[in-house]
Amino acid sequence: MKTWFISDLHLDPQRPETTQQCLTFLEQIKEDAEALYILGDLFDYWIGDDLLNTPLGEPILSIIDAFKLLSNNGCTLYFAHGNRDFLIGEAFMQRIGGQLLDEHHVIDLYGTPTLIMHGDTLCTDDTDYQQLRTLLRNTEWQQAFLAKPLPQRIQEAQQLRAISKEKTEQKQENIMDVNQQQVEAVMQTFGVSQLIHGHTHRPATHTFELAGQTVTRIVLGDWYKQSHYLSFSSRVD
Ligand code: MN
Repeated sequence: MKTWFISDLHLDPQRPETTQQCLTFLEQIKEDAEALYILGDLFDYWIGDDLLNTPLGEPILSIIDAFKLLSNNGCTLYFAHGNRDFLIGEAFMQRIGGQLLDEHHVIDLYGTPTLIMHGDTLCTDDTDYQQLRTLLRNTEWQQAFLAKPLPQRIQEAQQLRAISKEKTEQKQENIMDVNQQQVEAVMQTFGVSQLIHGHTHRPATHTFELAGQTVTRIVLGDWYKQSHYLSFSSRVD
């Protein structure tokens, strides 16, 4: 049996091919998945779980059903918020049969203490983004947003996405990557030798020395051009 990790699918009804790739992936792992961790930005934006009770939620139902099938099949589903889908809530989790994770979550990955997270909080050089994040994660801001009519929320989410795209294009590449000191601090705080995250869309395995130990940081890739996933299995099987 395997534990799977995905992030940054950025599912969007405008790009049905990515949804199809996701459905194919979920079908493929069905037989050997004991856990699936979705480490954020599953959706390109998320305006509230109540969308699912309206016709606007219809393009997403195939994905929800596929996740639900997987959880019914005995695979435990975990979801960590990304910077795009931070409004996913308990109603969504119930629909897929999954569990919402805290911002930092430590698991025992077949014997290796592993910290999992979306990864945006590691990008501390991007002060502009961190300021925006503080606003968007504010409970009052979120409540006010969720109280707005759906069409208005969609419009505002699309505006935010456009602004983010424009700013991203202006920023230097290294500013949008993780800050190594932050990575080391967070790994030491949680006492792990392995970190798995997404967000930066720079898939890689980084190995470095930390407090006399060789540690690993694995970065998941996005699904813009192809599917990206990571799996671990116990050494025994
Ligand atoms: Mn992200």
